[in-house]
Amino acid sequence: MSKNKFLKENFGLSEAVLNIVEEAETTAAKAFRHIEDMAEINEMKVMKAFADNRLSAEYFMASSGYGSDDIGRDMLDKIYAQVFESEDALVRYNFISGTHTLSTMLFGVLRPGDTVVAITGKPYDTLEEVIGIVGKPGNGSLKDFGINYKQIDLKSDSEPDYNAINKELTENKIKAVWIQRSKGYGERKTFSAKEIGKMIKFVKEISPDTLALVDNCYGEFTDDKEPTYYGADLCGGSLIKNAGGGIAPTGGYIAGKEKYINLCAYRLSTVGIGRENGATLGINKCLYQGLFFAPHVVSQALKSAVLCAAIYEKLGFEVEPRSDDVRHDIIQRIKLGSEKAMIAFCRGIQLGSPVDAYVKPEPSDMPGYQEKVIMAAGAFNQGSSIELSADGPIKPPYTIYMQGGLTYESAKLGIIMSVQSLKDEGVI
Ligand SMILES: *Cc1c(COP(=O)(O)O)cnc(C)c1O
Repeated sequence: MSKNKFLKENFGLSEAVLNIVEEAETTAAKAFRHIEDMAEINEMKVMKAFADNRLSAEYFMASSGYGSDDIGRDMLDKIYAQVFESEDALVRYNFISGTHTLSTMLFGVLRPGDTVVAITGKPYDTLEEVIGIVGKPGNGSLKDFGINYKQIDLKSDSEPDYNAINKELTENKIKAVWIQRSKGYGERKTFSAKEIGKMIKFVKEISPDTLALVDNCYGEFTDDKEPTYYGADLCGGSLIKNAGGGIAPTGGYIAGKEKYINLCAYRLSTVGIGRENGATLGINKCLYQGLFFAPHVVSQALKSAVLCAAIYEKLGFEVEPRSDDVRHDIIQRIKLGSEKAMIAFCRGIQLGSPVDAYVKPEPSDMPGYQEKVIMAAGAFNQGSSIELSADGPIKPPYTIYMQGGLTYESAKLGIIMSVQSLKDEGVI
């Protein structure tokens, strides 16, 4: 049976939709080569780190209690450090999310009276309360502890405002700059690791003692290098995004200079004990295996995003990035133009999810949002966004964000179903 006949018979897809997808896939294929190259380089890096460090089954054993001398935990740190081309790393399932990991980074190295300057504009939403830009005084934010925060917005062309950064670093004592790699859900471009390297070089030339801290969420393994290679003192991210390869059930990592990694470990556990303790309960194998899969899984998510862009471009929607852009994170933005289209899109994505495919997404109220939000997700790991998902607030211009896909084949199904769903609703 041909592929299209199977799809038509089993998923109720129309000839017209399948033709659009087939055409778009031909367009998309041109961008696949670069993505495959990045995956190969990163996979080889992981393989080499495993081999150089003589990874063997004894490192997969569970520890309990204090978890002293947990060789699996220590080895994982060493391997991450090699892959990230950094002095050291801290990889723990105990990081409950990306936000927790990044918060640990900030509290780990900043002290009362210090100033941190965000040089890529407003940080990711969930960090605002950590910093103390929003939220009640007395909650224990950085601000409560006397840590000052300043922000230098990106210029209208999405580039860092180097004049303003220069002025800030020249006139004031700045302990650290904060750089966010991915656009997240903002309307700006995503920075490549190399572009981040340029920012770090600029900062260090003016103020060598200023630390460069990088929010690396969604960016891992999209480029052939990580920000640590380009001189970031610390970078961190979530293991239920890129770096966990869809296998890690939870956790986060920080990579960077040994001195600062140790301070982060003090903050995560306690001052004095730091990384000496922390039982891993048998989870290490998943974290190793997740790292093993990560470069490939990231490539699958990237290819899925390119296919999605190619399809919706052809249908006349505004997409960012475009299908032929070189990507530095896994997020795809599509301006769908109406609430109806957003709902239809999400229902299609949901139908192509491995878990909860029967569920019908509805717009609903979300804490922290003024408008209703629609979401599609059916993941093995709850909330995992390296797995296929789509979401967006119901407000003009009705932009949906799609990301993830553990395998190109499964994500492709979700994307095809989204097109069929838009067609069934008369949007296209
Ligand atoms: C997801 C994300 C975070 C926060 O991670 P959570 O795991 O959702 O807490 C921070 N920064 C960026 C750029 C992200 O994409």
